[in-house]
Amino acid sequence: MTQTMLSRVLFVGAHPDDETVMAGGTLAMLSARGVTVTVLCATDGRGGEDGGVPEAATLEGRARVRERELRCATEALGVQHLILLGYVDPPIGPDETLYPFTDDEETLIGQIAAVIQQTRAQVVLTHGSDGEYGHPAHVQVHRAVLGAVQRSAPEVYVYGVAGHLPDVEDRLWNVSDPAHLALDITPWFEAKHAAMLCHHTQHALFKRRRNLRTVREAVRTLETFHRHHPPVPPGALPDDPFASALLAAGAWQPLHSR
Ligand SMILES: [Zn+2]
Repeated sequence: MTQTMLSRVLFVGAHPDDETVMAGGTLAMLSARGVTVTVLCATDGRGGEDGGVPEAATLEGRARVRERELRCATEALGVQHLILLGYVDPPIGPDETLYPFTDDEETLIGQIAAVIQQTRAQVVLTHGSDGEYGHPAHVQVHRAVLGAVQRSAPEVYVYGVAGHLPDVEDRLWNVSDPAHLALDITPWFEAKHAAMLCHHTQHALFKRRRNLRTVREAVRTLETFHRHHPPVPPGALPDDPFASALLAAGAWQPLHSR
């Protein structure tokens, strides 16, 4: 097994709340084990719902509220550093159409590369190649992270991470990225739940699609990981400091990937 210890992890997400919904249990686990965790959020989240929060009724106000929510959530998860790129999050269009947030992906790639260098991250966690459910902003971040690593930090491992609620919904998130490892985040449930509570404007959204009654019920208790860079040979288990940390925390290799 790899001898290098895991000490620095960077999560790169498109919106405030992606860090919690997709990876909150894992980020809390890593923080609890002394790993320095940085969260990078690309947009200001103003395109999302206001959740009935009065200050969030205007787009500018919503950006302010969502930044506060994100700071609250990252504190709840034990994340040490939060970096905001401040891209304006495009409002959802007619028929729930979603949009990427920049036409200048070269600049985005350069910004992510700079943060990888600054944080000396060994591992970057981000969105999957399908943007989970096809969200163009998630796909854009996924592409930019891979671009940044391949171009300027090829020694860094890149994982897509997704959150699941096994008993309530199917597992079709990122169908193109079958999980190499899966982690039951129950031991870190309370930290993830606390972070979900911080994202007050999103509570209705968290519950709506699956008709859940409480935010607690909406905490995705299974987090899964697909290593995108460097690619993993079919059937193999990733062998790197992050995979070792996951296995030490109780992660397993799902049957389909053996
Ligand atoms: Zn998102």
